Amino acid sequence: MQIDRIDLFHVRMPLIYPWRTAYGEDADIEAVLCRLTSGSVCAWGESAPFAAPCYSPEWAGGAFAVCKQWLAPQLLHQDVTSGDDLQQRLAFFKGNSFAKAALDTAWWNLHSRLVNKPLHQLLGATRDNAPVGADFGVMDSIDDLINAIGPAVAEKFPRVKLKFRPGWDVPMLEAVRKNFPTEVFHIDCNSGYRIKDLPLFQTIDKFNLAMIEQPLRHDDVVDHAELQRAIKTPVCLDETIAHPDHATLALRLKSCRYVNIKPGRIGGLTNAVKVHDMCQAAGIPCWVGGMLESGTGANLCVALGMLDNFIYPADIFPSSRFYHVDMAEEPLELVKDANGIPSVKAPVHIPDPHPDQLAKLTVQQATLK
Ligand code: MG
Repeated sequence: MQIDRIDLFHVRMPLIYPWRTAYGEDADIEAVLCRLTSGSVCAWGESAPFAAPCYSPEWAGGAFAVCKQWLAPQLLHQDVTSGDDLQQRLAFFKGNSFAKAALDTAWWNLHSRLVNKPLHQLLGATRDNAPVGADFGVMDSIDDLINAIGPAVAEKFPRVKLKFRPGWDVPMLEAVRKNFPTEVFHIDCNSGYRIKDLPLFQTIDKFNLAMIEQPLRHDDVVDHAELQRAIKTPVCLDETIAHPDHATLALRLKSCRYVNIKPGRIGGLTNAVKVHDMCQAAGIPCWVGGMLESGTGANLCVALGMLDNFIYPADIFPSSRFYHVDMAEEPLELVKDANGIPSVKAPVHIPDPHPDQLAKLTVQQATLK
């Protein structure tokens, strides 16, 4: 497709309450939105690296600048024929996966509109419904956490993810397991530990967790492999897999037994499908995560999450969990599947940002035409 115009928006979306993890605390989610126009048709992409370079080395202000100055000019007035073609045009810029994802996700959404076929089908999915899990950040007290998990279990969420960081660690897990002895739990360490903490993770084996997500450095595959050899609980990589080449390394070194795939972190939907397929061939199950995107970006994650090897329930949330008003024209809502399990339905159409909300939340904007 010919790219006639590119609009970029850096937005700041206030959360209902702060998102607390091992890497810090966010009161707002900062994202880059990209609108690609071809002829009379346009579509949006979204990528949410957050305000500061704490989850990964990227941040929303930086991703916006990289898109504006370097990436978008490579695509403007070009005939970009596929996701692979887009990635190849951007490949000589190193890293900057979140920035590339803003453009890549917009390309896929625009492609879906131009050929009039739902995105999940274009990505290769055959189902149109997928289960989601519940997810709890660091709270003020363990009692607050236990009180929050109860309703999630009652609502039949098939698994619960718990943030895990120094000071919110083994005593928290002991309390959770005492109250919920048989439910499926996993922890997400957001790269908060190092290989010297191996004895801590050996202790954690007794809690029978589904997995330990990103225990060690955000860019490590070697220490994760050593950790995985030393513990029974599966290791899941998230932050480490910022590019398909990282997945190749992790699979070769056996650094993990699960991979969390986020379209933003991995450079877009093109790379997400690539890593999904590589993991499937290697017998490694995946699951989709999000970065608390608006309904626009969250629906891009939902479409991806319909692929076959997304076996573990997704980290996708209804808009009302985090936002008083979602920036998108339609908020994301959960449905119940035939067994009463909270699920997401494949979007027929990815909602655009609502123009009024977008105007209200925009920090900076650029147009290339
Ligand atoms: Mg994670």
